[in-house]
Amino acid sequence: MTNNDTVFALSTPVGGAIQIMRISGPAARKTLETVFTGRIEPRRISYGTVTDADGSAIDSCCAVFFEAPASYTGEDMAEIYCHGSRAVAAKLSERLAAAEFLRLAEAGEFTKRAYLNGKMDLARAEAVMDLVSAGAERSRKAALDQLEGRLSAVITGLYLRAKSLLAELANYLEDDTGEAAFDPAASMTAADELASETETLAENGMRSRILREGARVAIIGSPNVGKSSLLNALLLRERAIVTPIPGTTRDTLEESLSVEGIPVVLVDTAGIRETPDAVESMGVARSRREATEADLVLWIVDGSRGLEPADREILSSISGKRTVAVVAKSDLENVILLDGDGTFCSFPAVRTSAVTGDGIAELKRLIAETLLPGADEGAENLVTNLRHVTALERAESALDAAKSALGARDFDAAFFSYKNAMDAFASILGRDDPAEELVESIFRDFCMGK
Ligand code: GDP
Repeated sequence: MTNNDTVFALSTPVGGAIQIMRISGPAARKTLETVFTGRIEPRRISYGTVTDADGSAIDSCCAVFFEAPASYTGEDMAEIYCHGSRAVAAKLSERLAAAEFLRLAEAGEFTKRAYLNGKMDLARAEAVMDLVSAGAERSRKAALDQLEGRLSAVITGLYLRAKSLLAELANYLEDDTGEAAFDPAASMTAADELASETETLAENGMRSRILREGARVAIIGSPNVGKSSLLNALLLRERAIVTPIPGTTRDTLEESLSVEGIPVVLVDTAGIRETPDAVESMGVARSRREATEADLVLWIVDGSRGLEPADREILSSISGKRTVAVVAKSDLENVILLDGDGTFCSFPAVRTSAVTGDGIAELKRLIAETLLPGADEGAENLVTNLRHVTALERAESALDAAKSALGARDFDAAFFSYKNAMDAFASILGRDDPAEELVESIFRDFCMGK
């Protein structure tokens, strides 16, 4: 896309009383002058007729012209408010499509141009779409706050702090004179504060997203440990097919339920293990993906059997995921011991029985607590977008890595970690040349005319 071309699109759905045709780009003024008979003065609405190429009237309407840079896109822009009929929209679109230098805008192109022209950062551009699609009052408020730049201001602050930590260290690393001073302890303290603020922001973001969209909870474990039975026990009905033959759950099952007021989608996956069966191995691949995409993993092990190599393989594949360990079949003789603090393999853990129902209530409590730690109802919904939450989590772990590297006096590694943290903050705002795919993928989901 070049910003030298001029684009147009209908910004409203057809069928209302009025519809708005938008035109943006260097030829916007000339186009309006050509198709509209009214007087054109920037930011003054005027009444006139839009005409076809032969001078015949298409509709009588109002129009306004915004002169660059004082417009939504930062370019010359025109808006024509015509009557809301399909016939008017079709005729006017035809007329504009035939004009020289004019083409139909892509989905989200007006907002994308606003971003590319520096009128708004990425987070604010995303808020435009969130606001357009906001269904609930909470979402509307969060999107508007984000659009007005409250989120951007906070993230810019974090970004600048990471940048200055990086600059201080870079200055020291690049100095040949031996004069530059660097205090690793002070840098670590600053990184620590930055990491903890970032964590709070990400957690609140996770919270508001989960309350809005629900959480995906994947039930993961090797075959026959009792995954399907556990799903049934949580749902209190027979949904998954329970069999004593390993590998019978070949696809994933999804069920929605409310866990202590949190909307949850439970996903029962096929047993994760290497298998020569092609169909089953597709299920296995899907399980791995579910584990990656889930907000929470329930890792099920069979308490009557103990850990087998397949369980250990799963354990290594879920490292770093938010996980609750479930030691199933507590009605049978148990060979698995929980740690003194109630954890298993450092995950919060619970013993359950699908037969007696033992531990199911406790499991629900653990799921809720792990999804929304320290449920703080008053926390504000500053971050609501999954892309932002993920970037914040990435920044936080980069800052933690920087702290460890500084502790080990590995200043080069600390430098790269600070750089990663800074880049993660920058990616939320779309600063410092974000990857083109990222920008494309964000605007692709927009509607036409926005
Ligand atoms: P999956 O392959 O992991 O989904 O495991 P299933 O839920 O299909 O269960 C495998 C076998 O273990 C079945 O024979 C179940 O009846 C049995 N099982 C599952 N949960 C329990 C439990 O809590 N107690 C006992 N005694 N058996 C169970």
